Amino acid sequence: MSVKVFIPTPLRAFTEKRDTVEVDGKTVGEVLKNLVSRYQPLQQHLYQDNGALRGYVNIYVNEEDIRYLAKEKTPVGEKDAISIIPSIAGGKDDEAHGIAHEVLLSNDEVLRYSRHLIMPEVGMLGQKKLKAAKVLLIGAGGLGSPLGLYLAAAGVGKIGIVDFDVVDATNLQRQVLHSTGDVGRSKLESARETINGINPYINVETFETRLTSENALDLFAGYDVIVDGTDNFPTRYLVNDACVLLGKPNVYGSIFRFDGQVTVFDARQGPCYRCLYPAPPPPGLVPSCAEGGVLGVLPGIVGTLQALETIKLIIGQGDSLVGRLVLFDALKFTFRELKLRKNPECPICGSAPSITSLIDYELFCGIEPPVHDEESHRQFEITVEELKRRMDRNDDFILVDVREPHEFEIVNIGGRLVPLADLPNRMNELDLSRDIVVYCKSGARSGRAVNFLRTSGFTRAKNLVGGIDAWAQKIDPRLPRY
Ligand code: ZN
Repeated sequence: MSVKVFIPTPLRAFTEKRDTVEVDGKTVGEVLKNLVSRYQPLQQHLYQDNGALRGYVNIYVNEEDIRYLAKEKTPVGEKDAISIIPSIAGGKDDEAHGIAHEVLLSNDEVLRYSRHLIMPEVGMLGQKKLKAAKVLLIGAGGLGSPLGLYLAAAGVGKIGIVDFDVVDATNLQRQVLHSTGDVGRSKLESARETINGINPYINVETFETRLTSENALDLFAGYDVIVDGTDNFPTRYLVNDACVLLGKPNVYGSIFRFDGQVTVFDARQGPCYRCLYPAPPPPGLVPSCAEGGVLGVLPGIVGTLQALETIKLIIGQGDSLVGRLVLFDALKFTFRELKLRKNPECPICGSAPSITSLIDYELFCGIEPPVHDEESHRQFEITVEELKRRMDRNDDFILVDVREPHEFEIVNIGGRLVPLADLPNRMNELDLSRDIVVYCKSGARSGRAVNFLRTSGFTRAKNLVGGIDAWAQKIDPRLPRY
């Protein structure tokens, strides 16, 4: 009997790009074992060495989490669908009521918000609640952009933004808070200008800092709703934990290529992020948007859904996404909804929490501080200048590009194209006895490739520091950068 298994985007590299696979089996465990025997490289992504499923991978049968069914023994039949869900990056009514009653709207504001005011679900009271509300956006990037625009337009009285970046040309494809003329400016300044251009009645509070365990509780304390628009795991866990400790809702959105996830975590009445993902993926396993890319309109869709949930929480209307994870597949145009449950053993929101204050999230996510052993590190690296000299001398070495074929098409400096995910299966194309120089866009993926090659016996492999981007800047400025 075969069962349909949905493969998430990050794992499709291992299933010949298939998004669904039909696999035989009578239980979830059997189906998954058959899946990994057909696609061997999936093994290390789904299972630990001891054969247990990894903590950052959740398995659903239809819309139920198998942890709340019979786990891997959960029976499945022909009509069932199994989803593999890897982790990818309201104010209390009474209180809001009281504060909102004291807020006044000017005649200008009444006119501005008239399309809200004539809806009974918003009305004068709802609009006053919006004006009294304080929403903190973590990040002024892809998700923060539609959030900032729509929350400002809707009349959210105070919008705080935490960010420390400057606007970069590659941001403009999706970060619609910023314009071409803003390249090089602080994102916060650009965001404030755009938001106040849309609605001068909004008080924009900016925090030009990295969110850390030291400042998160203080920053969050002054806000009713926290909206997570970040792109890395340490910050996701930090935002979650600070929200749980302070009892505040966390409106969550994440994006990757064509996939989006949205939910509302509120540990006072439902699960938190740690209930869903007790453990982060190992560093480097899940690519970031900078490495994997993202369709520009996708953060617009997901961020707008976050804005919608934020507004519903503030005005206290409708059914919130608490306890419901929405998955959006832009290529197929499907929305799927999964039930999320509170884990009674959750380390932060469970009945006997082991985490009672903020921790070191970089450490928790396994991100090691930069290597101090410079000397031994350098011998695995080569600079673009040295590579140029070796090319000019016609030295004997193999040049390997571990980027994706579509990146190779944008720009390349020759070499054999072996995408990182294919490397384990294509090592036989390389020669142990020759020098190997590996490059990618920036040196991150090729660094992982070199580590992998060295542990596989290719002791003469070196990583091109700064990747093809450094080559384009220092050696051949005619090349396009991306
Ligand atoms: Zn929890």
